[in-house]
Amino acid sequence: KLPGAAPDAPVHSAGAGEGTGGLAERYREALLPVFGSPQRILARGAGVRVWDTDGTEYLDLLGGIAVNALGHAHPAILSALTKQAETLGHVSNFFATAPQIELAEKLLTLAGAPAGSGVFFANSGSEANEAAFKIARRTGRPRILALSNSFHGRTMGALALTSKEAYRAPFEPLPGGVEFLEAGDERALAEALAPGDVAAVFAEPIQGEAGVRPLGGEYLRALRRLTRDHGTLLVLDEVQTGMGRTGHWFAHQAIEGLQPDVMTLAKGLGGGFPVGAVLSFGADVHDLLQPGQHGTTFGGNPLAAAAGLAVIGTLLEEGLLEHVRTVGAQVSADVLALEHPLITEVRGDGLLLGIGLAQPIAKQVAAEALEAGFILNAPDESTLRLAPPLIITSADLDTFVAALPDLLTAATADGEN
Ligand code: PMP
Repeated sequence: KLPGAAPDAPVHSAGAGEGTGGLAERYREALLPVFGSPQRILARGAGVRVWDTDGTEYLDLLGGIAVNALGHAHPAILSALTKQAETLGHVSNFFATAPQIELAEKLLTLAGAPAGSGVFFANSGSEANEAAFKIARRTGRPRILALSNSFHGRTMGALALTSKEAYRAPFEPLPGGVEFLEAGDERALAEALAPGDVAAVFAEPIQGEAGVRPLGGEYLRALRRLTRDHGTLLVLDEVQTGMGRTGHWFAHQAIEGLQPDVMTLAKGLGGGFPVGAVLSFGADVHDLLQPGQHGTTFGGNPLAAAAGLAVIGTLLEEGLLEHVRTVGAQVSADVLALEHPLITEVRGDGLLLGIGLAQPIAKQVAAEALEAGFILNAPDESTLRLAPPLIITSADLDTFVAALPDLLTAATADGEN
């Protein structure tokens, strides 16, 4: 018996329910229930479609929440991973590998980063934000600002930057020094920065988890101007918005001349394989983290880097950024053209879209959509989020737009029952 085990605690028996029919039960018995019950157990994916263990097909309009940039089982990623796994799968941080170096160079080029900039690789968005938090601490300034409705992740540092009380409260005390400002309020920002003791402002160009809410060009420009004036770092969290999602490599590039001091990435970067990154712009920022002050075992692993290179290569070769702008604008226009009384607006850019609803029925609509073979989600009760693979065609998006009125009707009927 293990020390500390309850005297008669039953021991977990693996695979109690046999076959795929028992998977839901086995999930409940074997995994921490932090995400509630899974909606379906998925078995296979190809392109923009996935199939569950019963063989039911779904159009994936969520792409693993803005992760599967090239869809499922894309040949470019498969061949890059196979080739890399056959060549060199992992090395310690005492060594470097060509894919890691190449991915860093590509990211710096795409970001238009000046000489002296650099990349730190992590494994997730939260971890990338943890590193950015540490960079901010290294300025020696005590205060950090984040915005209302922010989401930067669930690890302790990232959580300290995340505004939602329900996520924070169970884990206090969180790392200190973080204050929240009303997103969009330029005056509050100017006042908060005025004492000159703010290390960094963290912001998402489009707040994805908050319901796909763009900060807007005017406020982003003010963020840049005011942080620069006060020697404060502007950290843009492009975990959800980066890597072509909005039809630009990075969402901030939609605004002429805007460049952050630090940018965090993950999600779409590896196209489904775990890799995150922190870019520090310019030597002054780059030098804040000194050798030995931060690290991770897996970050920038050759396999993850190979996946990242395959994603970037394919986005470039297939002109997918332009495609994202075109089909994103088209589906937004088509949803609005329904002139449905329950649809108030479409927010976001490219293929990160939030369909605003006039009633708090988004969760019911998402459930109806799943039944009808569409995967999407409801980041809040009156928003439907679309973040499909960037390779999705207008024809596939059309099938969803055509189905939407019926989904809304069915969801409204649900609420009345
Ligand atoms: N930042 C943003 C903007 C995100 O949307 C997310 C994930 N939804 C994260 C950070 C956290 O990323 P991860 O789940 O990979 O830790």
